[in-house]
Amino acid sequence: MTETPPPADGETPLERRLIELIRASGPISIADYMADCLGHPQHGYYMKQAPFGAQGDFTTAPEVSQMFGELIGAWLLDSWRAMGEPGRVNLIELGPGRGVLMADILRTAKLRPAFLQALQVHLVETSGRLRFEQERRLRDAPVKPAWLDDLSEAPEGPTLIVANEFFDCMPIRQYERGKAAWRERLVGLDRTGERLALMLSGVNTEPEDAPGWLETAAPGDVYETSRDARELAELICEIFAHDIGRALIIDYGHARSGFGDTLQAVKAHAYWPPLATPGEADLTAHVDFGALARVALDNGASAFGPIPQGVFLRRLGLIERAAQLKQAADAEQAGNIDAAVRRLASEDQMGTIFKAFCLSSPRLSIPPGFDRL
Ligand code: SAH
Repeated sequence: MTETPPPADGETPLERRLIELIRASGPISIADYMADCLGHPQHGYYMKQAPFGAQGDFTTAPEVSQMFGELIGAWLLDSWRAMGEPGRVNLIELGPGRGVLMADILRTAKLRPAFLQALQVHLVETSGRLRFEQERRLRDAPVKPAWLDDLSEAPEGPTLIVANEFFDCMPIRQYERGKAAWRERLVGLDRTGERLALMLSGVNTEPEDAPGWLETAAPGDVYETSRDARELAELICEIFAHDIGRALIIDYGHARSGFGDTLQAVKAHAYWPPLATPGEADLTAHVDFGALARVALDNGASAFGPIPQGVFLRRLGLIERAAQLKQAADAEQAGNIDAAVRRLASEDQMGTIFKAFCLSSPRLSIPPGFDRL
């Protein structure tokens, strides 16, 4: 995925609305731009596109192979055991996409009927279109899910949370360091007044949630921060202060907080200019796991990782599971299994840039696959 295609001609309906809004009331934050591009009720990317798979714009780990969801299913089962095998446990997935991960998790859960019986499955999804796909895929699943608009609506009680490629959709703000101060990067209009363009705010602003290391910034450095990601992590930590549980968060991002512009758009499996076709390309940013770990520290929860996805999946038994599946496979299927292992775990594919991270009740020990932070 290297080519950057030229921007498409013609403007998208969301672009027209944003241009009018900016003309009327001035530039908007990158966070507001991202939130509209992804979640606008009529024009948002997840509301109307079919993003996933070969025909779509990108392929996520559960869509690469059933092994991903099976290993996570085993991780969740192990966590339920560590929680003392409660008779009822919430299993909450944030942003389930086409429902593939949950289908694989629930199939794996069948191996332990007491676990399956304990599960109360909740899917947090804002897109009606994707809810429909999830409902269809999980129609024959051994547990019927319920849908929530927001994690805050989840019932109390022991809780397991799983989120794959969810935090990367959380809107970010960007700040650029000048000689002596920070200015926010905004989405405004170019000289023609007809196209969206990135620009610097006319006023200096201290970044939101400024950690101490921001003092090391040199002119031109960009600092990104996501209030939505922090608030979501806070909510998870609040749940775990009250009820026993663990959250497994898998996403692409950096282990150490640092400077850099990571806003990126993807369309038809290629990088795409982030401002070119609002609402018609996926728009994400690297997850700052360091910031999430700080939230855990401030809220009395434990954090583990992040560790590279390849390391995590191997520790959970990826190679053994692949060998097991290959025993019943023909030569072509065996080749596909090997290719999936490479895709999920090798360094030059999803193995290193994607990372696994865990937030947990302080009472629980180190989760499978992780080391202490
Ligand atoms: N976890 C899936 C899909 C990742 S794409 C997979 O790995 O294949 C992101 C998912 O999060 C989509 O289902 C999208 O509709 C959903 N989503 C994005 N922002 C959301 C929000 N603020 N609240 C709830 N769901 C959201």
